[in-house]
Amino acid sequence: MQHSEPSTVKPSVAIIGGGLCGLGIGWRLAAAGCAVDLFERDKVGRSASWAAAGMLAANVEAEPGEDLLLSLDLESQRRWPAFATELSAVTGVDLGYRDEGTIVVAIDRDDAEALRFTYEFQKGLGLDIEWMTGGQARRLEPHLSPGIPAAVRCALDHQVDNRQLVVALEKACRAAGVVIHENTPVTAVDISGGASGGRVSGVQTATGAHRADVVLMAAGAWSYDIDGLPPMARPPVRPLKGQMLGLRMDPRAPIVDHVVWGPGIYIVPRKDGRLILGATVEDKGFDSDMTAGGVFRLLESAWEALPQIEELPLDEMWVGFRPTSRDDAPILGPTPVQGLVMATGHHRNGILLAPVTIDAVSDFILNGAVESAIEPFGIGRFYKRDDDQSSNRAERRA
Ligand SMILES: Cc1cc2nc3c(=O)[nH]c(=O)nc-3n(C[C@H](O)[C@H](O)[C@H](O)COP(=O)(O)OP(=O)(O)OC[C@H]3O[C@@H](n4cnc5c(N)ncnc54)[C@H](O)[C@@H]3O)c2cc1C
Repeated sequence: MQHSEPSTVKPSVAIIGGGLCGLGIGWRLAAAGCAVDLFERDKVGRSASWAAAGMLAANVEAEPGEDLLLSLDLESQRRWPAFATELSAVTGVDLGYRDEGTIVVAIDRDDAEALRFTYEFQKGLGLDIEWMTGGQARRLEPHLSPGIPAAVRCALDHQVDNRQLVVALEKACRAAGVVIHENTPVTAVDISGGASGGRVSGVQTATGAHRADVVLMAAGAWSYDIDGLPPMARPPVRPLKGQMLGLRMDPRAPIVDHVVWGPGIYIVPRKDGRLILGATVEDKGFDSDMTAGGVFRLLESAWEALPQIEELPLDEMWVGFRPTSRDDAPILGPTPVQGLVMATGHHRNGILLAPVTIDAVSDFILNGAVESAIEPFGIGRFYKRDDDQSSNRAERRA
């Protein structure tokens, strides 16, 4: 655990961005006695945190080369039930937390081999997953396609209604005294000199300057675009577009209860009958178009796993932007600029990572301690070997 100087005086905090990171950390800080101003360029909670599917899929999403991230994912997943209980108790908002678990299905024999390979890899990591025949999977979810040869189940990969999550976090923020400035983009971070990166003094907004002891960067996919930061403190984050569809089931007779994954698709049933299908992964900047090809592939892949979707009304379609860092892992905690703190770059796992992000980053701002869980995820990992070369790379790739 790293330490900076602890202080008994609570800092004033300016937060850039009102997604789950900004709202969650704002809530904790205001509840601890900080004066918190949150600046949101639009309306709070309507960007990636609204667009997401809400899966808490630490196990089935585990990929080679992401060992440190897997530990963080599992730690956050472990914290989710208590976090959901606390937030619901404070706000009275039902977060739609569901614990049926996740089933990953193979559609044909080739696919079953690929699934077996992933299963062996994830099992080798000690993850709690279970191999199933198609018949066993259909006993759990009778509407799965009869042709499914095999599946993997993870009972621990739950889900939450992410829209309810941001509604609750906004409510918790307002109750704790966070001053929320909507339709107020931050244009720049103000930094006063200093040999080793300087110190923040506040932010510039469309309506004027605002002074603060601490500035929290929580602007999601837009985090790289805010002016005033030296290269070593500019997070290499870019938008990764995802197209999503919402179908409508009869909530009294849902066609599926588990989260279901198939090749190129995940299917997420909500308590209120919505059935979320996602998502494309497109490196197209902030292009917000839904495309015929994207919609076609989502529907086709979902239909192959769960043919009954054919009967369901189409409710909604939308695009979201994952805040994706250069190594797909979040950027958390202190920076070379004193008082500038990061909570960005959560890519496809920001909902899963909400509890650990909110707790650990708030803790750092309040106590100056970097929790060991987030230590590997500082911005320094992008710049520590050769600051000049790395920051040039960040300029090119972000
Ligand atoms: C299609 C899709 C599906 C996903 N599914 C899942 C999932 O199933 N599970 C999971 O764990 N994660 C999922 N994610 C990822 C997750 O949604 C994100 O990682 C998470 O929401 C990021 O939260 P955030 O607060 O950093 O960003 P955001 O929610 O994007 O919030 C950032 C906020 O900053 C504001 N802002 C930007 N610039 C400025 C500025 N200059 N001044 C003031 N405000 C500004 C924006 O308007 C926005 O409100 C998904 C993402 C997408 C796009």
